[in-house]
Amino acid sequence: MTRPHPDAHPRSNQYPIPDRMKAWVLGGPEELSVIEKPVPQPGPAEVLVRVDAIAVCATDIEIIRHGVPAMIDGGLPFNRGFTPGHEYMGTVVRLGPTVDEFQVGDRVTVEVHAGCGRCPRCREGMYTSCLNYGYRAKGHRANGFSTDGGFAEYAVNNINTLAHVPDEMSDAEATLVVTAGTAMYGLDVMGGVIAGEGVVIIGPGPIGLMGVGVAKALGAQPVILTGTRDRRLEMGERLGADHIVNVGREDAVEAVQRLTQGKGVQYVLECSGAPNALNEAARMVNRGGRICLAAFPADPVPVDLAYLVRNNIYVFGIRGEGKSATHRAAALMTQKRFDAKLIHTHTFSFADVPTAMRYARERIEDAIKVVVQIRET
Ligand SMILES: [Zn+2]
Ligand SMILES: [Zn+2]
Repeated sequence: MTRPHPDAHPRSNQYPIPDRMKAWVLGGPEELSVIEKPVPQPGPAEVLVRVDAIAVCATDIEIIRHGVPAMIDGGLPFNRGFTPGHEYMGTVVRLGPTVDEFQVGDRVTVEVHAGCGRCPRCREGMYTSCLNYGYRAKGHRANGFSTDGGFAEYAVNNINTLAHVPDEMSDAEATLVVTAGTAMYGLDVMGGVIAGEGVVIIGPGPIGLMGVGVAKALGAQPVILTGTRDRRLEMGERLGADHIVNVGREDAVEAVQRLTQGKGVQYVLECSGAPNALNEAARMVNRGGRICLAAFPADPVPVDLAYLVRNNIYVFGIRGEGKSATHRAAALMTQKRFDAKLIHTHTFSFADVPTAMRYARERIEDAIKVVVQIRET
């Protein structure tokens, strides 16, 4: 039997690519509209992804309203024909020059950041902290932040920002991989062994809930989730939390001390952005404990620094999903170690992006993760 010549591969004609595509773009603040723009061309180490589905993130809503944290060539993203959206998945439809790591037809999900590859941080593998953040000419890409994102029919991705999606994983579930990857990175930076160690997750938003699933999948014991909304806390229980604490009914620090017989936990993953969260987290960890901040309060907050110092407590901050944590999160989800689908509450079509944003922003019908099915299946 002879192998077919690669050019004869039936996949090569399976994905006809138009010259132009529909894309949502940001005008001024809160101004989203659909335009037609050229389908982008992948360069070396890049592929063209046909976007099949995308999840709305709270950060998208921030960007559409305030511009930051998106930044294009050092400026705000308004009126630049910028397409937001960073939590998407799709199908590889064209390979850039030299790309052999993926094939046309591969289902993939994305992470946000491709660093410039040339600055000291990128060289250390800390590409989410790239020193050339937002400078496209230096090769930095953060799709949906500094380069075009996924509220469009097609997007270009660096191959390092792609993870394979198995056939049995739905489009919607695959959009959640990057959120799980962010939670995974939060646990990573704390440098924990995790298995057999206690983790508190503050805040049952998407990252916090995925944090529960990831921590449990990595063997943490106990995993305690704190928050104010019962429905979300119950979701955390279904994702594997050993204990849930409604802080409207019980003091969070006292609850953690009670549940750990006064010992506290090794790690806190702070996903709420509540003004007093760091002070509370400090009283949940034991001496030498570690806290990772994955959310931030809108305003500066007072912190009991002396308590942190006296107790040798380490505090880390993360932006996004570094060190290929997305790939490890995808591996856990492929193994069905937790059911990310639980947090997917609503689905809309490409034309309904503004409605999808409104559901996510106003938490209509208790929306948690709102997914836009860009390509109708
Ligand atoms: Zn996001
Ligand atoms: Zn860099």
